[in-house]
Amino acid sequence: MVKAAKNYVCERCKKETPFVQVCGYCDRKICRACEKSSATHSKTLRTVICKTCWGDLRKRTRYKSL
Ligand SMILES: [Zn+2]
Ligand SMILES: [Zn+2]
Repeated sequence: MVKAAKNYVCERCKKETPFVQVCGYCDRKICRACEKSSATHSKTLRTVICKTCWGDLRKRTRYKSL
């Protein structure tokens, strides 16, 4: 049996995941399922917002105004 490469634990849902990204609003490492939305501003700049921060109107407004 091959062990699946699950190297990270999502800091929002606590599930193991092979891939995390950092939410730009709470700085937690979140998995794909917890990512609400992401926007690419340039080749190097990418903003990710998690579902918790999406529920925060101030953070959501900040995200949308980018
Ligand atoms: Zn998660
Ligand atoms: Zn967040």
